[in-house]
Amino acid sequence: MKQLNNDNAANRTSYVGNVYNIGEKKYKEDVLNSLPENWAKLHREGYIHIHDLDAYGLTYNCLAFNLVNHFPIEQFESIKSDSGRIIHLFELIKELFTKVGNEQSGGMAFANFDNEMAEMLLKLNVRIDELNKELIQSLTRELILWCNGNHTRMGQTSYYITFNIGLAKDDTARFIAYTLLDEFGNTSDLVFKPNIVFKVKSGINFEDDTPNHYLLEKALNVTAKKMIPTYILCDSKPNKNINPEKLAIMGCRSRVVQDQFGCEGAVGRGNIANISINLPKLALEVDRDYRNEDTDSKVDRFMKSWDNVANQTKNILFDRYEKLCKLKKDDFPTNLETQLWCESFDRDNLEEVFKHGTLSIGFIGLGEAVQVLTGSKYYDNIDSYMYALGIVKHMKDYVDFLRNNYNVNFSLLATAGELISGRFIDIDKDLYKPSVDIFSKGFYTNSFHIEVDSKLPGYKKIQMEGLFHEYCNGGCITYIELGEAPLSNVEGLLEYLHIATDAGTHYLGFNFPKDVCNECNTTGVFDFCPKCGSKNITRIRRVSGYLEILDGFTKGKKNEEKARRAN
Ligand SMILES: [Zn+2]
Repeated sequence: MKQLNNDNAANRTSYVGNVYNIGEKKYKEDVLNSLPENWAKLHREGYIHIHDLDAYGLTYNCLAFNLVNHFPIEQFESIKSDSGRIIHLFELIKELFTKVGNEQSGGMAFANFDNEMAEMLLKLNVRIDELNKELIQSLTRELILWCNGNHTRMGQTSYYITFNIGLAKDDTARFIAYTLLDEFGNTSDLVFKPNIVFKVKSGINFEDDTPNHYLLEKALNVTAKKMIPTYILCDSKPNKNINPEKLAIMGCRSRVVQDQFGCEGAVGRGNIANISINLPKLALEVDRDYRNEDTDSKVDRFMKSWDNVANQTKNILFDRYEKLCKLKKDDFPTNLETQLWCESFDRDNLEEVFKHGTLSIGFIGLGEAVQVLTGSKYYDNIDSYMYALGIVKHMKDYVDFLRNNYNVNFSLLATAGELISGRFIDIDKDLYKPSVDIFSKGFYTNSFHIEVDSKLPGYKKIQMEGLFHEYCNGGCITYIELGEAPLSNVEGLLEYLHIATDAGTHYLGFNFPKDVCNECNTTGVFDFCPKCGSKNITRIRRVSGYLEILDGFTKGKKNEEKARRAN
């Protein structure tokens, strides 16, 4: 199918998709027109970005399924054979993705796919013998291909699905984890979904003599080829006091842990909504109006300006949350039927369910903002770095204040800026004449990330970004940019996991450019195929947490990709 050069890198065209897009555009405009003028203005003028405007008042964002607790065993009662029950289990999972994926706006996940599958197979009394293992392998392969190739969501795009694995407790769970990795690793380079996230945990898989270490090695081998999986570091400072089974990534980087209502962890919970704040813009305004003041006072003015925008952002999130809670359970037929949330969905007041979700305040362009305020890039100058840390801590303190004061699960999200990396800068570049150049590269840098062309050594990048992870409790990721696929250097990747754990990194990924020849399937980094000479090349890159084909990137992301340099 033809790929659209569109807001969303995963999109393909279809009739239903076209009608959806027309409706989406109209509905977004209607939502903005219905909001108080000052809120809509913040969005339109690019101070903030209200993500998934098309879902405003209609649905929540993402969810990690709580499938085991309400496992619909009755569906299986009439199925006599093991193979029949296994096939139906995989069908059930795909059906849930399809239905729930059209009932919410963002990602879906299993927090412990290996253990959960093992538990469900046990409930079904399936014997794990050679024959059934073979069936599970082929169905896993088929599930992967389905996640990759299915574009039925909104008639045009794939489902954002994440399988978290690594803590497998028994042989069946280990088999499930290994099979998922192995089958994914064996697919062609053009298969880059679903997301797989491996949980690295001391005593379980991190050390040589641990029972699941071979799974971690397998995972790293697959990453070296395909950039997937990415890694939750369960022993790092932000994660070490949390039961690792409760940690998970949903969608690209959403992290749901704390709960004001007693249900800690990701399982059966999700993010409700996210609004990102354009940090460079606030810095540019300070630079415009107070250029001659000293750095302390400029940073101070920046923080006050952020407080003002964040306060209104909080009000918008509340409005959205209240509108969501006023919906009826019948508006979510699959959620009602399947009980995937940690709280029963069968109730008249859905606030009892959605109060477990998180409301995220996100940010983009910390690097550019600090550069405008201090004159230096934060990774070049220790004073600028301290200002950068101070700004992120300030934002975290504010969301903590909101959480405690309003008893709502606010979190700070280091936003994946697929759309806004270009949208914000396009607005700002015509409005401001900054004292330092942040516009010529054509995009704002993702969240707190060090610029992609810093050429900083990998360990240095990890150490500098690590301190931000503790503050970004709603989700964040550090990427190591490699020049090419690290096929023969799995030990190197393992070493990075250690460095990152020590540096306080909660979640780590590896990026490298990957070009695939469409004629002969040769992979590498090239403009024409070194083997057959063809110029018919598919370029696969990671954007906002998901691998996509480069042609489908937004303009800002294409500029960012062009600027990437290896660490
Ligand atoms: Zn070729």
